[in-house]
Amino acid sequence: MKQTGDLHLMKRINKSIVMELIRHESPISRASIAEKTGLTKATVSSLVSELIESRLVDEIGAGESRGGRKPMLLLFNRTAGYAIGVDLGVTYITAVMTDLNGEIVNEVKIQHDNPPRDELIAELTRCIRELAERVPESAYGVVGIGIGIPGFADEEGNVLFAPNLGWEHVPLQRMLEDEFGIPVVIDNEANAGAVGEKEFGAGTRWPSLVYVSISAGIGTGIIIKEELYRGMSGFSGEIGHVSIQHDGKPCRCGNAGCWELYASEKALLDEAKEVYGQPRMKVDQLIRLAEEGDAKALALFDRLGRYLGIGIVNIINAFNPPAIIIGGRLAQAEAWLKQPLLEVVERRSLPYPRAQLEVQFSELGVRSTVLGACSFAISKFFSSTKVSVE
Ligand SMILES: [Zn+2]
Repeated sequence: MKQTGDLHLMKRINKSIVMELIRHESPISRASIAEKTGLTKATVSSLVSELIESRLVDEIGAGESRGGRKPMLLLFNRTAGYAIGVDLGVTYITAVMTDLNGEIVNEVKIQHDNPPRDELIAELTRCIRELAERVPESAYGVVGIGIGIPGFADEEGNVLFAPNLGWEHVPLQRMLEDEFGIPVVIDNEANAGAVGEKEFGAGTRWPSLVYVSISAGIGTGIIIKEELYRGMSGFSGEIGHVSIQHDGKPCRCGNAGCWELYASEKALLDEAKEVYGQPRMKVDQLIRLAEEGDAKALALFDRLGRYLGIGIVNIINAFNPPAIIIGGRLAQAEAWLKQPLLEVVERRSLPYPRAQLEVQFSELGVRSTVLGACSFAISKFFSSTKVSVE
C-alpha cells in the first residue's frame, strides 16, 4: 500500500510540474517538456493526455521540426476558468475577474464610507456576485476568489485585525465560501500587491522584491526567492510602523514617530489641510494642482517623497533587495515623488546594498492588489486536486 501511495504522490507532483511548464512556457511540445523536466516521453505523453482531457491544455498546429514529423504544440487553455480578485479598501471596493493568466475580463468598482461590518460584507458579496454572474462559458467557471484586506488574516482566512475598517476576528473566508461554494483566499493588501507586481507588473524580472504600498497607511509585501515572506505567524511587513522619529507623533499602534505618520496619503492630506486651510483636500486635487505648477502642492509632494526615501533607506539597509516597487494610491504621484525619494536613497543608504538596487513605481497602478488576489485564487486552483491525480 505504501508504494502505491508514493507512486500516486509522485504522479501528482509530476503532473503539476508539467502543468506549470505549460502554463508558463506555452506553446511547448511534448519533447521539450521531457527535455526540460527529465521525465520520460511516455510519462509526459500520459500526463499531457490527462491535462487535455481536463480541458486545461489544448493541442494546436505543428511547431518547428528538427527533422522528422513536426511536433504538435501544447497551449495552456487560459480560458478554462476564471478568478475573482478583490481589493477591499477603507473607502472603496475594486473587484476584477481574470482568466487563468491574469488577463482582466471584467471589473466592478464602488465607493463606500466604511459602513458597519455586516453592511460592508453585503456590499462585498454583491460586487463578487455581479462579476460571478458574468463569467464566460468555460470548463471550470469561477475557480476561486482572492481578497486583499487592509489588515491581518490567519491561515484559515479569519480577518484578525483590520484597524482602518474597525474589524476584529471576522471569519471572512468561511462566510464567503458558504455564500459562493468555491475556495476563497484572504491576505493582506500589500502581500497581494507584491504578488500582483511580481506576477504581472513591474516585478517579473526579480526573484525577490519589497513592495511598498502607500495608501491611507503604508504596508509592505516582502517576496524572497519567489515566496512571500510572512514571518513566524503571518505578521511581517509592518514597516509602516518602523519608527523614524523616536519622540515623534504618537501612533495608534502604540509606537511613536512611525514612518506612515509622515509618508502616507493621510500624512499628505493632513499637511495639505494646514497649507491650504481647507478641510477636505483629495489626492487627485493635489495632483491637478501639481500639474498646474502650484508651488504649495509641489512642496508637499517633495516633502512626502523625502519622507518616503527615509523609510526606503531602512528597507534597503535591512533587506538588500534587488528591487523595491512603490505602489498604492500615491504611486500615481510618481512624477513628483521619485526625484526627492531617490535623492534621499542616494545620500543616506549604505552603498553596498544600494549598488544594484532598482527602485520602480508600480506598473499595475491601482490594480496591483486585485491582480495579486486573483493570483492567489489561481494558485490555489492549480494546487488543488482538480488538476492533480484524482
Ligand atoms: Zn505605528
